[in-house]
Amino acid sequence: MRSAVWCACWLLAASTTGAATLAPTLDSLAAPTLAGNAENVAGAKVRFGNAVFTLDGEIEGVLGASTRIGFAFRGQGSLALTVAPGPFRQANLTTIRDELSGKAIEGDALVRDFEGGVFFTNHLPSGLFSGEDVTSTRLADILDRSVSRWRETRYTGLDHLLAPFVLDASKETVVFAILWKGSDDAVYLLDPVDQRQEIFGRLKNAESETGSYQVLDLILDQPAGHELRNRPAPRVVQTAIDLELVSTDNQSATEVTTTTLRAGPEPVRLVSFSLINGRSEKDRDWDEHQFPITVRGVVDETGRALELSHRYDELLVLLPEPLAPGASTTLTVTAEGGFLKNFSGDSYLVLGNMAYLPQLPIYSTAASFHSVVKVKEPFVPLACGRTVRRWTEDGLSCVESLEERPIAFPFVIVGKFVVTSKQEEGYDIRIYSYASAKERGAKNLIRNGLAVLDFYSNGMAPFPYNELEVIEIPYYRHFFWQAPAGLVEITSEGLSPTSGDSSDLNTIIKRYASKGQNSRYAHEIAHQWFGNLISWGTPYDNWLSESFAEYLSYLFMSEGAKDKAKANVQLVEWETDVKECSEYSSVYGASALNGDTRHQQCYTQLLYGKGPYVLHALRQDMGDEAFKKMLFFMTTQAAKKPGLKVITEDVILFANAVSGKDYRPWFDRYIYGTEVPPKTW
Ligand SMILES: [Zn+2]
Repeated sequence: MRSAVWCACWLLAASTTGAATLAPTLDSLAAPTLAGNAENVAGAKVRFGNAVFTLDGEIEGVLGASTRIGFAFRGQGSLALTVAPGPFRQANLTTIRDELSGKAIEGDALVRDFEGGVFFTNHLPSGLFSGEDVTSTRLADILDRSVSRWRETRYTGLDHLLAPFVLDASKETVVFAILWKGSDDAVYLLDPVDQRQEIFGRLKNAESETGSYQVLDLILDQPAGHELRNRPAPRVVQTAIDLELVSTDNQSATEVTTTTLRAGPEPVRLVSFSLINGRSEKDRDWDEHQFPITVRGVVDETGRALELSHRYDELLVLLPEPLAPGASTTLTVTAEGGFLKNFSGDSYLVLGNMAYLPQLPIYSTAASFHSVVKVKEPFVPLACGRTVRRWTEDGLSCVESLEERPIAFPFVIVGKFVVTSKQEEGYDIRIYSYASAKERGAKNLIRNGLAVLDFYSNGMAPFPYNELEVIEIPYYRHFFWQAPAGLVEITSEGLSPTSGDSSDLNTIIKRYASKGQNSRYAHEIAHQWFGNLISWGTPYDNWLSESFAEYLSYLFMSEGAKDKAKANVQLVEWETDVKECSEYSSVYGASALNGDTRHQQCYTQLLYGKGPYVLHALRQDMGDEAFKKMLFFMTTQAAKKPGLKVITEDVILFANAVSGKDYRPWFDRYIYGTEVPPKTW
């Protein structure tokens, strides 16, 4: 009968509103305790997602914020985690083979034993606590050791991780388990709500200048709550961002972000934004950050101050009452900090590759972006969107920008730029050159940029943004070629790194660089259509951005560029990529490959090589006219549906519509599957 009591407890906690709750809840969740209801279990089977845990030993409930948030276990445990069939299977088999030598697979399941652990979950399995009570256990030891092992990682702490269990009861079961096996601990995560992932990984020791810490080595990563044919409905969507950012010294800044959120299919009470408070996203040393972003406050549209917690590069905001499904609310977050300083030491700052303002994940962001940015002269600011006005006041260079069409990457860039601009045939193109850049380079970028814009606009929906702003960043600081809405950020110098450190150039980047400036430029501009206008809906649909941008670049190089022979370089490279990476994973499942260097290279090769290779084969199969019609329809339809996140299934529907043929089996083999279509040139 205890499980019934648990349910009652759970409902009670979920419906609690009113007095300050966030801080005490988080404090309590950071140090979970045992419930005092230890029992023996013999061969108990607990199923979560694709996992079956078999438990022989003792279990005891775990409490956090006066709620049962899971259970601790000690004894003989085993896990059988089925590697799900479908597009992700090959990537996972590759990772398991490379990390565990394949020995860990039995039948279709990854198997592993463990000696204890803690299972945190928002829905406890029923019937688990129906055995014989025991009075003395060593479960406290297991709980302590598991919790402290997690504290040694640099990931989100238990307080933030478990807060939704208590404050935002989802109907879906979310599980986070730390499995204890002495020096070989592991983690299992099932999150069909936010991360939409089922993950298994091992905790490994890593060393840094500041001492050793634990990192999670991913062994298995498959989607949860994910249907190939359904467009995902995020828990909450960020639909508008209004930013005012002011810096009088180009080091410290104040920022006021007013942002609108819309709840998904379930009520939302706890909102989790990304917002840096650490030195960098990469190291996540938030506690050691010298110039953190400090949040001064969050208010709702009535001016009411809301409870918040800003840790782990994450800003949790507790809404006063749950936001009903489909309803919207607007929050204003006031923050300040030395976050511009991190990127200075040179004469430009790029805000966008880390969460410099409170942001939801890109799959949950389809936001209009209005910004006012003021920085100290001679720096010049620019941002995504149409330039509404530019002015100076009190030694500050100011710009107001507006992008009404929803975007996923709200970028702001500031630098000691020289601006060269040209309006021609309805295109407004501006080059922001780094102070030392040559004028001739800017003129070439304008000329080539106009040719590329014109080529794409004639075959697809018209250029979706009001102006294209091309920013040249010196190579020796960064290798960045990226393209948020209306912007293209490129590396201005030749890519033979004579002036800087080449250690950050891995093989793939070298290969990418070798394609030549023009095809890369055409690739980045193509992202204005595939990447921005067509924003992808899940991590697995990223190929819709990269493979299509790469293929569009090929179309330009082979049909629109002056020297059309250069396009063949791309074909040859794709063929090499296909040979080297096809056995590792499908294109669609590529993001399930783990962080191993070779796997990361494969990910790149699948998206930038095999993807366009398959699109080339598709074009030969359906014919040039139908293929181009497909590009036209995809982009014009996307233009009519602002904010819609596109998934791979949409491409199949378009391919079928323009060809009158069923291309599903084709996509099943070459995009969802690992097969390679015959070479078509
Ligand atoms: Zn790209």
